[in-house]
Amino acid sequence: MFRLGKTSRTFLGSIIALTGFCVGMAVQAMPTADSPQQLLQHAFNIKTSDHDEFLKVLTQLHQLEDNLPLDEQWTLRYLDAWQAAFEGNETQAIAALRTIADQAPVPALRLRAMATIVNLFGFAHRYEDAFVQLNRLTELLPEVTDKGARYAAMGEAAQFLILSHRYEQAVEYADQMLQDVPEDKNACHAIRYRLQALIRSNAQLTPAQFQQGVALCTDGNDSLFANAVRSDMAAFYLQKGHASEAIRLLDEHYAEVQGYNYLPLMQYFNVLLAEGYFSQGNLAKAHKFALATIEGKEDNAYSEPLSRAYGLLYRIESRLGHDNEALAYHEKYMAADKGYLNDVTAGALAYETIKQQVQANKNQVDTLNRQNQILQLQRQLDRKAMETSRLYIALLLTVLASIAFWLLRIKRSQLRFKRLATRDSLTGIHSRQHFVDEAELALRAAAKAARPACLLLFDLDHFKDVNDTHGHATGDLVLKRAVAACQQHLHRLDIFGRLGGEEFAILLPDCTAALALQRAERIRQAIAATPLWGETRHVVISASFGIASTDRSGYELRQLVIDADNALYRAKRDGRNRVVYEDADGKPAGAATHAGHDQAPERVAALSTYSESTH
Ligand code: GH3
Ligand code: MG
Ligand code: MG
Repeated sequence: MFRLGKTSRTFLGSIIALTGFCVGMAVQAMPTADSPQQLLQHAFNIKTSDHDEFLKVLTQLHQLEDNLPLDEQWTLRYLDAWQAAFEGNETQAIAALRTIADQAPVPALRLRAMATIVNLFGFAHRYEDAFVQLNRLTELLPEVTDKGARYAAMGEAAQFLILSHRYEQAVEYADQMLQDVPEDKNACHAIRYRLQALIRSNAQLTPAQFQQGVALCTDGNDSLFANAVRSDMAAFYLQKGHASEAIRLLDEHYAEVQGYNYLPLMQYFNVLLAEGYFSQGNLAKAHKFALATIEGKEDNAYSEPLSRAYGLLYRIESRLGHDNEALAYHEKYMAADKGYLNDVTAGALAYETIKQQVQANKNQVDTLNRQNQILQLQRQLDRKAMETSRLYIALLLTVLASIAFWLLRIKRSQLRFKRLATRDSLTGIHSRQHFVDEAELALRAAAKAARPACLLLFDLDHFKDVNDTHGHATGDLVLKRAVAACQQHLHRLDIFGRLGGEEFAILLPDCTAALALQRAERIRQAIAATPLWGETRHVVISASFGIASTDRSGYELRQLVIDADNALYRAKRDGRNRVVYEDADGKPAGAATHAGHDQAPERVAALSTYSESTH
């Protein structure tokens, strides 16, 4: 059993809490540990119960320090800090514990360090600092799975909350502890903190609850905690007016508590006894225990038992009629009570301050989070808008491209249709309709300029025979050759068209009848001079020509066609392969010769009909 020096008194409460309190219990038999992990565990277990052995193990561990794994190095640092606190070196201890609480890789060790800081600050009446650490501890708690560390930390929290008069919260922690008791411990601590908080908040309790607590702690070899529960049980008896039972209980265990040399509990035992005897009218004993309460108190240390003891001494001396002593105690009572109340107020104030700060931080974080959310939403929206507009643009481009494509196709097919409509598919020269349109335009221009023009009609001779003899394909070829031969003798402004079958027309602008005769003759010869080898024999072709002039027929295409057709009819009739231009009387005014056959009369009708149809 160890004895605490005067210097470490301040940390007495903390030390008891830290150890899982081995004070008053037999030192656990621990085999000499070899591995660093075992040594560390050993040091943890004996740090209060056998402090001398603890110091030896600590030295041993420092010799191994360089070879310790990282986690174990941090544990060793924690033990060093604990030792600093034990020696009363609060500043050094807190600095070291803060580093561990901030940086240790194992959450359980960080939690232990935080708990120790809470305890140190609490017993030093530095409530604000203690609450700050308590908040960190509460936040870290869910991350820690090590049951021992959790249980110890919640115990520290409960103990500090009782110290700072936050009994409800202390009960909550005690309840949590009860649900989370490590395998190697029983619920003694949890029950003790719970009862302590409940009795101080004047809750309804029964003796059985205290007895259960005492039994549990005795079972777990925690005699100090068993006695702490007894002190609360005595307070309970006093509350109920059962002074003798309170006194009996306290008396029975008084010597045991004296053995701990643990001041807070001793003070509590003494003041309860003093109050018990006072209520029984035993002023002498009340006086004795009240004096015992204030005995050994530290300077400027205020506690509830002290204040209560001074109050009692004042009342005892008053009863005894010792006015001077009464006055002196009253002054001390007032000072102690003020100090104690100031401490309570400081605790409450610190709690509110830190609560507000935490809330303010939380609000700030919430606001920032919300702003962040809004920004992200905005960004998403922008992205969506951009995607949408990109989609629109793509869609628009597709539509435009499709329209352009269709316009192009339409244009191309229009052009194709136009070409089909204006060109003769076999020979490539003007179709009948197009020839009529163009010829009329040219004639109008000629009429306007009063320039002569001539119309040439020609028809291939006996073409049916060509088809019949050589086949239709050869017939086509003959048609193409005839057109090609003809084209060699055309001028730029001449208009050449296929009227149908093997009948063709040429409008010769700015051309007199005489010239037209010459030109038609050249064309006739060209056609005749373009023989073709058929499948079996030589194909000889010729054409008959009829000419009409504006001089004689006027500028109307219809009339020109009739006159030219008549001339062509005559050419056929006169033997084919010749050019005929008829005068006003219907007599040939000029003709090129060749013996031929009779003409086919239906051709003229066809031409006349067609000509009429254009008007
Ligand atoms: P004529 O000397 O009196 O003009 O006698 P013809 O045989 O030339 O006259 P007809 O009008 O009796 O015959 C014309 C023939 O032309 C009948 C038809 O089969 C043929 N024909 C019309 N168009 C084409 C064509 O595009 N290709 C071919 N191969 N033959 C055609
Ligand atoms: Mg013919
Ligand atoms: Mg014909």
